[in-house]
Amino acid sequence: MGAQLSGPRRTLVLGVGEVPWDAPVAAADDAGLRGDGFFETLLVRGRHAVRLAAHLDRFERSAAAFGVGLDRDAWTALAVAATADLPAAGEAVLRWSLSRDGLGLVTVRPVPDGVRAGRRGVDVVTLARGTATVPDAPWLLAAAKTSSYAVNSAALREAARRGAQDALFVDADGLVLEAPTANLLWTAGGRWFTPPRSGRAVLPGTTLEAVAGELNVEEAHVRPAELAGADGAWLLSSLRGAAPVLRLDGTALPHDADRTAALRGIALGTG
Ligand code: PLP
Repeated sequence: MGAQLSGPRRTLVLGVGEVPWDAPVAAADDAGLRGDGFFETLLVRGRHAVRLAAHLDRFERSAAAFGVGLDRDAWTALAVAATADLPAAGEAVLRWSLSRDGLGLVTVRPVPDGVRAGRRGVDVVTLARGTATVPDAPWLLAAAKTSSYAVNSAALREAARRGAQDALFVDADGLVLEAPTANLLWTAGGRWFTPPRSGRAVLPGTTLEAVAGELNVEEAHVRPAELAGADGAWLLSSLRGAAPVLRLDGTALPHDADRTAALRGIALGTG
């Protein structure tokens, strides 16, 4: 990611209210500092948090996976308070996080310029994730948006080291899972596909959910070599919307700008 753009920065603490954006807020031994917590990242356009309800639903599912309660009204109120006086035009990143010790934080930050650049397209490398499918293993938190993003960040650094902007994880069976912060969508033979979400280490994305509400998206296994022969592929996430995959492990993929524009409209809630 590149340097941050200038823009509003705010921090609100659950049960406390607003504090200076860079205030130290966590107890030194808070579980969240060991990655024992979960979070949501939302795009804010103007003062509107895109797909607030879908993010609340996933936040609630993550809370259930962590065995903690979640007060939807309190988090909605924090989101409204955090975004109420943002400029009417422009974008920001809203993040909710809750540690298992109950430290709840809401932050508003500018959209990183690397994210904006990624919307134009990304070169992607495949990286081994090493995991196999393990059904009925709720302790692996496969579908929760956990704070344990050290591996995801390291994968993005490895992608950058290899001259790419993003990565796709491949599991022990050689099947493509997802990107470190996005789901995969591809098209072939006039049909739309995404890797199966259930039972695998794939986070059910709110953006993918929105796209699947408009297009018939089928779940299918795919290996990198097959993906390289697709008619187009995109990384879907709240902040980037639909970022076209321009190259996969050095192989150029077809890119249809009209399709990307249509997907982005659905993904970013502007279509
Ligand atoms: N997969 C992972 C691992 C993610 O971290 C994210 C988002 O950060 C996504 C998928 C996409 O989720 P969403 O579309 O809700 O942003």
